[in-house]
Amino acid sequence: MSDFMVINEQPQTVRRQIVRIDEELCNGCGACVAPCAEGAIVMVDGKAKVVREELCDGAGFCIGVCPTGALTIEVREAAPFDEEAAEAEMENRGKVYIQQTCHLCGAGEDSRVLLPCRTAGASQWVCTRCIPRLIHG
Ligand code: SF4
Ligand SMILES: [Zn+2]
Repeated sequence: MSDFMVINEQPQTVRRQIVRIDEELCNGCGACVAPCAEGAIVMVDGKAKVVREELCDGAGFCIGVCPTGALTIEVREAAPFDEEAAEAEMENRGKVYIQQTCHLCGAGEDSRVLLPCRTAGASQWVCTRCIPRLIHG
């Protein structure tokens, strides 16, 4: 058998933004799972983990909801973001979709755009209509 038959199975990596989870700080609350639309964060043995790097786009929507500061975004070598795989994961997730609501007016993400925010030590969501209340009130 020739050496040319050996296929290099090393996954190709690129230098890019990706979420970093500090396992020491993670208390296993699971709050970061739903905000990640791509389904990149899963709970493994009571800790948040990115098992499939290609699902994390590094946008950081998970960061604001973590009560312990366990989530950050770092730049490192990682599998490239795979949009198709993320879309497939989103479809799978449709079955376990958990709707988030604005902490001020209670509107759901089905009717308003929600943004993560931190207030009084808690991670909350706020809808775009209530943002002026946060700024001026
Ligand atoms: S939100 Fe933070 S503490 Fe909770 S599971 Fe995710 S990383 Fe861990
Ligand atoms: Zn609102």
